This record gives sequence, C-alpha cells and structure tokens, in this order.
Amino acid sequence: LRIAVIKESVAGENRVAATPETVRKLIALGAQLVVEEGAGAAASVSDAAYVEAGAAIAPQGQAVQDADVVLSVRGPEPAALANARPGAWVVALLEPYGQRDRIEGYATAGVEALAMEFMPRITRAQSMDVLSSQSNLAGYKAVLAAADAYGRAFPMMMTAAGTITAARVFVMGVGVAGLQAIATARRLGAQVSATDVRSATKEQIQSLGAKPVFVESVTGIEGEGTGGYATEMSEDYQKAQAELVSAHIAKQDIVITTALIPGRAAPRLIADAQIATMRAGSVIFDLAAPQGGNVEGSVPDQVVERHGVKIIGYANTPAHLAADASALYARNLYNFLSAFWDKEAGKPVLDDEIGNAVRLTQGGKVVHPQLLAQAG
Ligand code: NAD
Repeated sequence: LRIAVIKESVAGENRVAATPETVRKLIALGAQLVVEEGAGAAASVSDAAYVEAGAAIAPQGQAVQDADVVLSVRGPEPAALANARPGAWVVALLEPYGQRDRIEGYATAGVEALAMEFMPRITRAQSMDVLSSQSNLAGYKAVLAAADAYGRAFPMMMTAAGTITAARVFVMGVGVAGLQAIATARRLGAQVSATDVRSATKEQIQSLGAKPVFVESVTGIEGEGTGGYATEMSEDYQKAQAELVSAHIAKQDIVITTALIPGRAAPRLIADAQIATMRAGSVIFDLAAPQGGNVEGSVPDQVVERHGVKIIGYANTPAHLAADASALYARNLYNFLSAFWDKEAGKPVLDDEIGNAVRLTQGGKVVHPQLLAQAG
C-alpha cells in the first residue's frame, strides 16, 4: 500500500499530515511512504528526517503517483490527484459544507474523499478526532496572542512600585478550544469567566477555577447537546444573551470567542455597541473569524481597532503552532488508519459506522447523506 504525504497548497497552511514518527509507524504496518519534497519544512520537519524514518522523497507534484492513500491537512485540488490509483483515499480536512465543487471534483476524479471533520464523536474515535486536537492548540494560542497584544499584564503583581491588578478574561464558547483558553488564561494568572449555551459546560468551567456566566431567563441546550455540538438559538435566547454580554463585557479586559455551529456561519455574539463599552486597550480574539466571526468587525489575519479595542483573529490558528499541530494531526491520521488496518488485505478497511460518517465520495459519486440532503 502506497501512502503519499503531500505539500500543502493553501497559503499560510504550515502544517503537514505526517511526521517522522507516524511515517515510521505506518511503515511498520506494512505501508510504503512517499513524501513530497519540502512537505514538512514549514512545520520544522526536514526531508532528511522523513528519509531517516524510511520514506522516499518525491519531487514537487509527483508524490501522488500510484498512491492508494493521500494524506493532507487541507483538501488538495482534484487535478492534483489525477495520477493516484483509482479509488484512492484522500484523507484530510475537506470542508464538506464549504467546498462543494471541489468535492464533486473528487467524485469525478474517482477518489474516495474522507473528511476528517465528520469523524463521529464516539469514544473509540476520540484519538482520531482532528477537530479536538487542533481546537485545543487554537484555544491556547488565542490567549497567548491576546496577551501579547494587550498593553498590560495578566497576573496580579505586587511590586515596590505598586500593585498591578489581574486581567479579567471572558471566554465565550466552552468547547475544546474554550476549555483550553480558560486553562491557559488561568495559568497566566488572569481572573477568568466563561459562558456557553450548553448547560453541561457550567461544571467544566467551575472545575477549571473560572466563573460561569449564563443566561438564566431562557433555557439553553440541556446537557452536552447532540455530539457536543450547539445549534442556532431561539430569538428569545439571543436577546437574553445579548443583555448578559452587555452587562458583563464592559468589565472585561480580554474576550476570547470560540462559538461555532456545524454547517452554519458562526453565531454573532458581540456587537460594535458592546465593544464601545470596553476599556481602551482591551483585546478581543475571535477564534471564529474564519467562519464569519463571533465579533462584529473582526477580519481574519488583521488587527482591527474599534473604540480603542483591538479585535484579532487568525485565518488559521493551529497553523501558528505548526510543529505541535502537525504532530497531533499526524497521530490522529495514524490512529485512524491503524485502527482499521486489515493485516490480510495489507490496507485499512473501514467499518460502516465510521466509514459512512466520513466518506464523501465513492464510485464516482458524492455519497454522504448530509451533502446529498443539502443538494436536494
Ligand atoms: P464547537 O467548536 O462546535 O463550538 C465551540 C463551543 O461554542 C461549543 O461549546 C458550543 O456549545 C459553543 N457555542 C455555540 N453557539 C454558541 C452561542 N451562541 N453562545 C455561546 N456559546 C456557543 O465545539 P467543540 O469544541 O468541537 O466541542 C463541543 C463539545 O463536544 C465539548 O463538550 C467536547 O468535550 C465534546 N467533544 C466530544 C468528543 C468525543 O466524545 N469524542 C470529541 C470532541 C468534542
């Protein structure tokens, strides 16, 4: 079985889908590994390190030749897969909802496109969950970036010259990224509060030593929500949430927003009028900036200043921690391929539960029920 690791083509995508560690492990399963020249450079992995792990290096554009499996972080252009074996797997973050044309292209190219974002949230797939591994690092980086842009310190400091008070950090959206943001802000010594629409997060916020700030007048999502995911909230809830934010935000120095709804634009949580109530020099980091933004006025990869408040958000936050993000992403992919490895066949064979969840195209057609429903 021939596995190709390609060099990412999206600007600013510094991650790579395999590391020398996972190359070694995949070879141990019986696979042959071909890595495109320079694929790991932006994640501090040299071609020589891949060779030492047992991979062959292919010149630009040629790694995919006769590949059975193509590993990538972002979805490659279908044209780049022309020389792969018929029915080859493409394993990557394929943006199933946003890149419909490209997914049709995978069907036409005759490859089986496996979208890692659709990995079901079941216990046995936890080690394959790329959204979690990348969100965790993103939550950490968001706090560091906000702290860096903030002209004051995070911890309380008692000095001979007087006392500096602790920064107040408010985290909105307490999924994987939000929990890590809370933990990181606490480690830096900030006073942290947090909110979510899912009631199960209240206890998680408290267990990290932060204060939950919740809408109480309208019921949110009881418990975890389906698969841990939120849905769009009712108008009543949105109104109550806006009032809560207005009352709370004026007293915050740093706000980290992480709220997402699968398959939809990110919910708008902070309006310009609310930003105007914040103290000058405050910082908002909008992790949802690439999904349309939780914060009015946020622009991916730009520092926008409104009412003396800096609004930041990266187009690709995990790519700012490329080495660690790649290490975890690569392990997620290894865990996925190895869990289904069929020794006799010498290749991975998916079961229905996970196969049907992640497979977008097969036999020249788009096959995923959610995409078919969307088209119809
Ligand atoms: P996500 O990235 O989809 O969303 C981030 C957070 O924003 C979520 O907590 C969501 O509830 C919140 N949110 C959405 N709309 C909001 C609004 N209007 N206001 C405030 N908050 C809003 O979520 P995620 O990080 O992928 O994970 C969510 C949950 O799923 C977590 O509890 C996590 O532990 C769980 N999870 C389970 C597994 C597993 O069992 N294998 C894997 C990953 C995550």
